[in-house]
Amino acid sequence: MTAQRIDGNALSTQLRTEVATRAQALKAKGVTPGLAVVLVGDNPASQVYVRNKVKACEDSGLHSVLEKYEATMTEADLLARVEALNNDPSIHGILVQLPLPAHIDAQKVIEAISPAKDVDGFHIASAGALMTGMPGFWPCTPYGCMKMLESIGYDLRGKHAVVIGRSNIVGKPMALMLLQKDATVTVAHSRTQNLKALTLQADVIVAAVGKRNVLTADMVKPGAVVLDVGMNRNDEGKLCGDVDFEGVKEVASHITPVPGGVGPMTITMLLVNTLEAAERASK
Ligand code: NAP
Repeated sequence: MTAQRIDGNALSTQLRTEVATRAQALKAKGVTPGLAVVLVGDNPASQVYVRNKVKACEDSGLHSVLEKYEATMTEADLLARVEALNNDPSIHGILVQLPLPAHIDAQKVIEAISPAKDVDGFHIASAGALMTGMPGFWPCTPYGCMKMLESIGYDLRGKHAVVIGRSNIVGKPMALMLLQKDATVTVAHSRTQNLKALTLQADVIVAAVGKRNVLTADMVKPGAVVLDVGMNRNDEGKLCGDVDFEGVKEVASHITPVPGGVGPMTITMLLVNTLEAAERASK
C-alpha cells in the first residue's frame, strides 16, 4: 500500500480562504480581527516564526501587530505590555512567542493573557476548557491535526489512537481532542515500555516527540493513519519529522509529510483562533 498524503499546505490554503471570507464579513460590521505577537530577545528561530505568523495574518486580511523587545526586558514590563494588550479593543488575540529569556517566568506571562484572547490555547483556563469540553481555544498544533483527520472524513469513534509525546502544547491536548471525538486513547512517552506493541494496535498514530525515526514501518498496523508533528533535521540538514516517511508510507493508509504537513496547519489554526476570538468579542 502507498499511503495517501494529507497535504497540510493545500488544506491550509482552503482554511485560510475561509478565514479571509469570515474576516471580510466582520470588517463589514466594523471589526477587523487583530493579533498581537510579542517577541522578547533575538532567538533566530523565533524571529522566523513570528514573521511567518504576521505575514499569514496580513495575507488573510487580519490586522497584526508585532512587538519586539530586547532580551533584557523585565518580567514586570512584559506583564504590563500583556495587560495593555488585554485592554486594547483592536486586539483579539495575544501570542507571546516562546521560549522567553530565562529571567522571565513564561507560565506567569501566559497566565496574564486574558483567556478571551488566548489564541495559542496555553492558558490554564484554555486547558481546563478543553478537558471539560467547554468553549475555549484549542492549542494550534493538535487542533491542526484534528482538522487533518476531519479533511479525510475520518470517524474517530471507537478507534484506537496512540499519541507519542505528552507535552502540554502537543501530546496532552492532542489526547484530549481525540478522546472528545470518542477515540480510545493511549499516550506514550519516554518511559513507555514496548512502544511498538502499542503502536501496532493503533488505528491512528500521532508522533510528537522531536526525534527522527521514532516510528518505523514495522511499528505500524497496515491501514493506520499517521500524523507526524515532529520537526527535526536529517543528516543533510533537511527538515524531517519523527516518522520514517519512506518506510511508513508503504504501510499506512494516510500520512502527513514533513515539511508540508502539520507545520503549515499550526499557523492556520492560529488564524482560525484569532478570527474566532474576534467573532466572539463582536457578539
Ligand atoms: P517536548 O516538550 O520535548 O515533548 C516531547 C515528548 O516526547 C515528551 O513527552 C517526551 O517524554 C516524549 N519522548 C521523548 N523521547 C521519547 C521516546 N523515545 N519515545 C516516546 N516518547 C518520547 O516536545 P513538543 O513541544 O511536544 O514537540 C514535539 C515535536 O513536535 C518537536 O519536534 C517539535 O519541534 C515539534 N512541533 C512541531 C510543531 C509544528 O507546528 N509542526 C509545533 C509544535 C511542536 P517525557 O514527557 O517522558 O519526557
